[in-house]
Amino acid sequence: MKVGSALIAPGGKGCSAQYLLAIAGFITRCRERGIDVVLVSSGSVAAGRSHFDFSQEALPVPLKKAMAAVGQNEMMSNWSRFFDFPCAQVLLTHGDLGDRERYVSIKNTLDALLENQILPIVNENDTVATDALRVGDNDNLAALVATVVDADTLLICSDVDGLYDKDPTLFDNARRIPLVEEIDESIFALAGPARNAIATGGMRTKVEAAEKATSHGIDTYIVNGRDSDSFEQLLRGDNPGTLFLRHPKPLPNRQHWLRHTLRVQGELEVDAGAAKALLEGRSSLLSGAVKAVEGDFERGDAVIIREGGQALAKGICQYSAWELNYLKGRQAQDVQDLVGDYLPDEVIHRDNLMLLEENH
Ligand code: GLU
Repeated sequence: MKVGSALIAPGGKGCSAQYLLAIAGFITRCRERGIDVVLVSSGSVAAGRSHFDFSQEALPVPLKKAMAAVGQNEMMSNWSRFFDFPCAQVLLTHGDLGDRERYVSIKNTLDALLENQILPIVNENDTVATDALRVGDNDNLAALVATVVDADTLLICSDVDGLYDKDPTLFDNARRIPLVEEIDESIFALAGPARNAIATGGMRTKVEAAEKATSHGIDTYIVNGRDSDSFEQLLRGDNPGTLFLRHPKPLPNRQHWLRHTLRVQGELEVDAGAAKALLEGRSSLLSGAVKAVEGDFERGDAVIIREGGQALAKGICQYSAWELNYLKGRQAQDVQDLVGDYLPDEVIHRDNLMLLEENH
C-alpha cells in the first residue's frame, strides 16, 4: 500500500492525522483479516520542511535530502501513533533493488518482519539516493516492493479518485475509468505526458507502477485516500477507484526483475540472423553477431538488443562496452587464444535475456 505526501503532510507543513486515521484503521482491519500489509510511505520531505528557513519553490538537492532525513523520523513516529503493533523502518534505493544479492536480502528482511506481525514502512533512502541510484517516486518504489514480497494487490492511495478518460481538472464531463484490463499506449496517453502533478494528479508514475505490478500478477488499484469511504468499499470487496487487472500470464520473478527493475545502460545492434535466432530460438547472443555497441556499460549491466533500429530484447551483458567494441564481429574463441584468458562464449546468455515483444 502506497500513501503519498499529500495525505501525510497536507499543505506540505509537517505531519498530520487528518487522513491517516482512516488509512491506519484500514491497515489494522486488513491485518485482523489475516492480510499482510507493507506500507510505502512518502512525506519525509514534506514533514521535514518546517525545520528549515527556506521559502523558495525550487529546493536545492542537499536541502531536500536534509529535510527528508529529519522528516523521516517524524513521519515514522506519526504512523506509530496509530498502531498498537510495531512498525519497522525500511529505507531503499533503486541501486539496492537492482542488485540481485541486495534484492534477496531485502526480500528476506521484509518476509521476516511480516512473519512477526510487524508493519514494514518503506521509503526511498533519500540521503544516499543520487540520480543514478534512486527510483525517484514512491509509486514506482511501491510497485517494486510489491514484486519483492509477491503481493496479491498494490493499493496506491492518492488525492484523486482514479484514472480518468480526460483531465478532470479541465473537463467537467471527465469520467473515472473503473477497470483497465491492459495497459497500453492509450492508457499512458490518458495519464498525461510527464510527471506533472498539476495536469492529472501525477498519474503517469501511477500507471508506470501499475504496469510493473500487473505484469508480476499483482492487481493494482488507484484510490482516493482522502475519502474514508474508499477504504470501506475496499473492505467490502468493491472498487472505489481504478483497478488495473493483473496480467493473465505474469512474468517469472527473475524475468520481471530483468524487465522492470534493471536499468538499461547501453544498446547492441545485431545482425538479422542473430535477431531471428533470438526471436525464434531464444538462443544466447554471441559476439560475432554484434555489429555496433552504444553506451558506456560495465560487465553485468543490462542492455537492449536492436536490429535495424528496432528494440528486440533486454539482457544482462557479460562484457563491458569497452571489451565488446573490440570483440564485436569476432568469435570469443579467437580472442581467447590471443589474451589467454577465459572468456565466456555468450555476450548475453539466454537465461539472462528476455524478449520485449510480449506485452509485459
Ligand atoms: N521519498 C520522498 C519523501 O519521502 C517521496 C517521493 C514521492 O513522494 O514520490 O518525501
